[in-house]
Amino acid sequence: MISYDEALEHFEPVIGLEVHVELGTVSKMFCGCATTFGADPNSQVCPTCLGLPGSLPVMNGKAVESAIRIGLALGCDIAGWCRFARKNYFYPDMPKNFQTSQYDEPIAVEGSTEVVMPDGSTVRVDIERAHMEEDTGKSLHVGGATGRIHGASHSLVDYNRAGIPLVEIVTKPVIGPDSKAPEVARAYVAHLRELLLALGVSDVRMEQGSLRCDANVSLRPRSGGPQQPLGTRTETKNVNSLRSVERAVRHEICRQAEVLLAGGTITQETRHWHEDTGITTPGRSKEQAEDYRYFPEPDLVPVAPSTQWVEHLRQTLPEPPGLRRARLAGEWGFSELEMRDTVGAGALELVESTVASGAAPQAARKWWLSELSRRARAAGLELSELQVSPQQVAELQGLVDAGRVNDTLARQVLDGVLAGEGSPEQVVVARGLEVVSDDAALTEAVDQAIADHPDVAAKVREGKVAASGALIGAVMKQLRGQADAARVRELVLQRLS
Ligand code: ADP
Ligand code: MG
Ligand code: ZN
Repeated sequence: MISYDEALEHFEPVIGLEVHVELGTVSKMFCGCATTFGADPNSQVCPTCLGLPGSLPVMNGKAVESAIRIGLALGCDIAGWCRFARKNYFYPDMPKNFQTSQYDEPIAVEGSTEVVMPDGSTVRVDIERAHMEEDTGKSLHVGGATGRIHGASHSLVDYNRAGIPLVEIVTKPVIGPDSKAPEVARAYVAHLRELLLALGVSDVRMEQGSLRCDANVSLRPRSGGPQQPLGTRTETKNVNSLRSVERAVRHEICRQAEVLLAGGTITQETRHWHEDTGITTPGRSKEQAEDYRYFPEPDLVPVAPSTQWVEHLRQTLPEPPGLRRARLAGEWGFSELEMRDTVGAGALELVESTVASGAAPQAARKWWLSELSRRARAAGLELSELQVSPQQVAELQGLVDAGRVNDTLARQVLDGVLAGEGSPEQVVVARGLEVVSDDAALTEAVDQAIADHPDVAAKVREGKVAASGALIGAVMKQLRGQADAARVRELVLQRLS
């Protein structure tokens, strides 16, 4: 495959993102079934979400409210009147044989949002629409090596997810970012996640599928100039982590460039993303809208939110991310660069929670951006996926502040917490990691070191203070690092003065 740089030499990438958000409502979109994640298969179903004959849907008001708040937060116009539509197709995990969705009458249209990039610059992404729909069930293909249907001996289907409310947020084609397109795609999804979390409408856990991204990519030849039409797009479905969004877009740019440079054409199709190999493979060739035989859902009343209700919901919007960042930078005394790094590392919420749990802002920042970032990178995880909570980080910093552990010991305490050995306090006790602060014990160790190294001790007595380093080292070794080196130094000099 050709390199990214080579692809960029010949083509300008254009992206478009469709993000599905599973709303965190207690019940489903059109029935009263529970939405708890991880329940026994088919334990949260009823005639309505199973599409049994004669059952009738009733709209979940809380879901409509969440959809409106999402639309407002993205600067969209909220429709004064809109309807659901039936999107007809067959899929084993969709028992009604149609998905209740919105088509030409979405609840929210024409918005835009400012995405902050890791380097602090901002990219404006225009929103085409945000519409309501329901999720499908989940198929499980069993007996094969890959979990895909090919090679499986049989398939199981779980309808618990069928009917869970979704909002699909669709961008307009994002044309400006050019070579930065993969990073913009990632930053946009990260930005949406932050926004949705602040709205409290979803738990936005990509690994559990409550935030899913389909990434559209097309290329235009540089030789054609900016006025030419957009190229044919592919749509890579269900990319399930921020890192994968960036990787999938980058891969697709290289793949399409190679096809085009070899004289081929791009087919409009969906593609599957393979996390392990980092490539996409063809899915189905893309249906046209008319294939779905959309028509207005006759069993549901139209959605007609009053202006008063919409204006009331506008008042409930959280602080916009940009303003919030500026406020926190002020409160924490962070420089612009420090704030940018914090946001770029995906650590803003984590630092905020750590500070809320009592840690000093700079200390909280240091933990998440150095030690914990290093460990997340090594394990291939997002910071938030590490098995340590902001509360535990604050507790750990509290142990450092109280002088009960030094930096080296604190890292060992962290090892224990990450290994699931309990809270920092429990790890300190279980592993015996506390520094020796008892002067009698320290003095004993110092005297031992002096006795073991008479020649070094003699030099220090003659005034060569620098030589004391060897004695301090010997004491620290004797105490397995569990001492405050500055205090040991004081004691060494005191004994030899
Ligand atoms: P579909 O029903 O095929 O998923 P949608 O309208 O839901 O279509 O979403 C299409 C997405 O692809 C939108 O985000 C849109 O901005 C984007 N898009 C459309 N044309 C192109 C193109 N030529 N290149 C890249 N993205 C595109
Ligand atoms: Mg779509
Ligand atoms: Zn149900």
